[in-house]
Amino acid sequence: PAALKMEVNVLVVGADGVGKSALTVRFLTRRFIGEYGDLESIYSHNVTVDGKDVLFNIWDFPYSQDHSDENFTEEEKRIQWADGFVLVYSICDRASFSIIHQKVQVIKAAKEYLGLEKVPIVIVGNKRDLHHRRTVSSEEGRLLALSMDCEFYEVSAAEAYHGVLLVFHGLLDKIKESKLTT
Ligand code: GDP
Repeated sequence: PAALKMEVNVLVVGADGVGKSALTVRFLTRRFIGEYGDLESIYSHNVTVDGKDVLFNIWDFPYSQDHSDENFTEEEKRIQWADGFVLVYSICDRASFSIIHQKVQVIKAAKEYLGLEKVPIVIVGNKRDLHHRRTVSSEEGRLLALSMDCEFYEVSAAEAYHGVLLVFHGLLDKIKESKLTT
């Protein structure tokens, strides 16, 4: 019998302008377009991973500073929807890096509340091609990820497809592991 097709929900989180749409579109279409609308969007695409079809639903969500109860509930819903998370900052934007820690905590707290122990999260430092404008070192990114038990990658959505591929494949591995243990 044919194996059931796997479907995964991925939430892409991060400050404005760090390249959430660029990473998503790069992964799903292999292209870098350069400009993206700032509307929230869910992309659904079949991707072949290790010879198997996987349906990726990727929700690229604009960052909100809104801390109202209503917005909090919306955020909880998105977190519950997702099987895995890509937390993105830009290596030339310290402010975008400084919110990652808190975002990971919010996601973990929400998932652990439902009994999920190992939450699949990858932290991504994007815009590696802009190294002359770097304000966050690779080491800082790596240490943050290590301390929060997340995977870590530095990539450039603009210049290289391969690194972006590794991000999503790495996340898929973590999601598969988490589904086996729960
Ligand atoms: P979002 O708001 O997080 O979804 O960010 P976007 O994907 O819309 O990207 C914001 C801007 O950064 C756009 O002008 C992109 O072309 C640019 N951008 C995204 N990724 C990279 C990258 O890896 N390198 C460079 N140089 N620019 C990037």
